[in-house]
Amino acid sequence: MKIQNNIQLQKYNSFGTMAVAKLFCEPQNQKELSEVLNAFPNEKKLVLGAGYNLFFTKDFDGLIIKPGMKEINIIFENENYVEIEAGASVEWDILVGKCVSKGYSGIENLSLIPSSVGASPIQNIGAYGTEAKDTIVLVKAVDNETGDIREFTNEECEFGYRDSLFKRTCKYTITSVVFRLSKSFNYKEKYIDLSRELEGVESPTISQVRDAIVKIRTRKLPDTAILPNAGSFFKNPVLTKEQKDALQKKLVDAPTYNVGDNKYKTSAAFLIEKAGYKGRRHGMVGTYENHALVIVNYGTTNGKDIADFAYEIQGEVLKQFDILLEPEVWIF
Ligand SMILES: Cc1cc2nc3c(=O)[nH]c(=O)nc-3n(C[C@H](O)[C@H](O)[C@H](O)COP(=O)(O)OP(=O)(O)OC[C@H]3O[C@@H](n4cnc5c(N)ncnc54)[C@H](O)[C@@H]3O)c2cc1C
Repeated sequence: MKIQNNIQLQKYNSFGTMAVAKLFCEPQNQKELSEVLNAFPNEKKLVLGAGYNLFFTKDFDGLIIKPGMKEINIIFENENYVEIEAGASVEWDILVGKCVSKGYSGIENLSLIPSSVGASPIQNIGAYGTEAKDTIVLVKAVDNETGDIREFTNEECEFGYRDSLFKRTCKYTITSVVFRLSKSFNYKEKYIDLSRELEGVESPTISQVRDAIVKIRTRKLPDTAILPNAGSFFKNPVLTKEQKDALQKKLVDAPTYNVGDNKYKTSAAFLIEKAGYKGRRHGMVGTYENHALVIVNYGTTNGKDIADFAYEIQGEVLKQFDILLEPEVWIF
């Protein structure tokens, strides 16, 4: 496998910020990955998926590992379900499309999320009441420090809201993920915009649900190829009862919902909008006019411009509402 030097990372992050990586490699299988880890034990390492959830503010003085495992295989099947193993570099929506076309259900609500399969467990991608964790049975990975091959059961992944063991430790390169998908499908009406999109369709099929979600997402979110962005920039904050009450004193219409343990989730987009930042633009960076949570790049190649704008929003929301927004996007 070729190890490349001084690689420009602009095309490897959806914000399109410029930075140079000292070393860069694309291992195609576990053996190549182990070899490269053994060859560079002391280099700082960063695993790169499709680059939809990170950007660079400076050069990367270390080794970028971009897994290249591309296979999709059915590894177990019975009359009720299939288990599908997909390589880390498989494009997420290609996998979803293939599964939906075969009638395998479980990930259709995650249609059109820009991701590689390998990154899907990292923040436990989610949309329309479904998360990657609902179907993941096994994550195969290599320990970046020891080169050891590891397999993690669903429980061992310690999934949470936009969270996992992998995200917290940054210690592993995921090489493939095994999903268990059902051979039957029952549409559950849960989301207003999805129901609206499917109005008039009696008992929607899995393909109709996927198509509806693709349409909604295409309308709602900016295309990264046209308006560079990384999706939702901040996580929805989870509040204590006291924080929730204090917020609703300031903003009576603040949406909150109970997530158990006396904790309440609220909407980061709502807070950003109330802080006066929806559609606001500073120079080459702004928030998307249709979605306050999405920061968009109007033409800078300097990641610091994006980070500064994000910190400004964070500071303003903290000042006005006493709530600290936590970035969902990785800033390097
Ligand atoms: C327009 C838009 C809409 C979005 N909508 C959603 C949404 O609805 N729901 C949602 O959950 N997310 C959403 N996101 C965020 C994004 O889709 C996810 O974070 C996705 O998983 C990123 O995948 P990636 O391959 O681009 O990862 P990258 O951005 O390349 O990497 C993200 C993180 O994962 C790590 N990583 C990547 N691959 C591996 C691997 N093989 N092994 C170990 N670590 C790895 C990286 O080191 C980094 O820390 C959206 C993003 C965009 C741009």
